[in-house]
Amino acid sequence: MTNTAILTIGSELLCGDGLDTNSAWLSRRLEGLGCSVRLHLSCLDAEEDIVAGLATASALASIVIVTGGLGPTVDDLTRAAVARYLGDSLVTDEGELAHIEALFARFSRTMTPNNRSQAERPESARPLRNEVGTAPGFVAEGPNGATIYSLPGVPREVYWMWDHHLAPELRERIGQRPRAERTFRTTGIGESTLAERLAGLEARPELEVRYSAEETLGTVRITLLADEQEVVQAAWLEAREIAGHHLSALGTDRLNEATVATLVAQGLTATTAESCTGGRVAAQLVEIAGASRVLGRGFVTYSNLSKTELVGVPAEVLQAHGAVSEEVARAMARGARAAGKSSLGLGITGIAGPGGGSEAKPVGTVHFAVAYGETEADVLHVLRVLPGTRDVVQIRAAAMGLHLIQRGAAALVSQRDS
Ligand code: AMP
Ligand code: MG
Repeated sequence: MTNTAILTIGSELLCGDGLDTNSAWLSRRLEGLGCSVRLHLSCLDAEEDIVAGLATASALASIVIVTGGLGPTVDDLTRAAVARYLGDSLVTDEGELAHIEALFARFSRTMTPNNRSQAERPESARPLRNEVGTAPGFVAEGPNGATIYSLPGVPREVYWMWDHHLAPELRERIGQRPRAERTFRTTGIGESTLAERLAGLEARPELEVRYSAEETLGTVRITLLADEQEVVQAAWLEAREIAGHHLSALGTDRLNEATVATLVAQGLTATTAESCTGGRVAAQLVEIAGASRVLGRGFVTYSNLSKTELVGVPAEVLQAHGAVSEEVARAMARGARAAGKSSLGLGITGIAGPGGGSEAKPVGTVHFAVAYGETEADVLHVLRVLPGTRDVVQIRAAAMGLHLIQRGAAALVSQRDS
């Protein structure tokens, strides 16, 4: 497999002022070509550091992509640093200079002398025309045989240069099929528990399993990768079985997308009654185009009175069990379903904190219920004690709420089919 590395240049990336999005963007595409991305490195606008970065990156990769530092100002040192690393001198590329002059003329802007420096390149490098900015890129062979691509830092220009130069050149050079892959997400199960259950898959040498815990959502993203599509497909069928009802989204879908898609596919509707999440579930559903077909209404039932008035939770139930209880969550779910005349009703009630917890009901205690039919037996209840600060508890509870709508949909469909 072709090893690649990405070196991003810019002091703003190291002090936290700017986020290195180029590496992530380029990595997705390199992986798509079947390359392995071995290293991301960011360094200051300092010639020494860039030279050291080039040496490190070239030691691990046969293709190194550099972004940034090709501007016209004194802190743009990539041209000089690459030349030094190659043992080259800098020359002005007459073709690129003419192109830059033409660009300035086209936009009726005056070209300052420092813009001329942008037409410079290491002597042995081949220029890469940039039609969307004034900094051309270039490509050269490093002393240890690594190919070094140098691109501007502006993300829009990186994308253009990728599409017009790197993608076609690398595709030709690598000529390798991208690896087959499949991504899915789970909710309501810890990363370590899941990894234990999927250990059998991980043990297969022909399969790579990647985990990425999305901590604040309480979800885990799993990607299965292999050279052969059949290997991924077989692993996916097993993983789906193992994940069971924890499976919450496929591909790069977000939970709300997956939930809306499930409801649309089954022709179902949902109504929400939310206490501690204050409408977050409904808000996330309406983010998705097409939500109007599945979400009739969403209640924010924060006070006891609203739970009674809007979704008919009996005052005696609130009195007897307290607002944060299985009984109230179930009554909210059934009441929401009835009030919205929908297929499913979701109830969420919990203690987001920081205050309000007790020994019996600590902060983070959240009761979820989804009603998928007329009777008390058609209600699914889940209790969770979610860790984290108030906002984290709310975010995770909303994710769990979305997931529970999907579980309710599955329960209703299996009931309907039997
Ligand atoms: P430069 O080519 O270094 O002058 O970069 C131009 C601009 O592109 C910078 O001011 C940043 O806003 C942006 N930029 C540079 N490097 C990156 C990167 N790795 N990821 C995202 N944006 C970047
Ligand atoms: Mg810069």
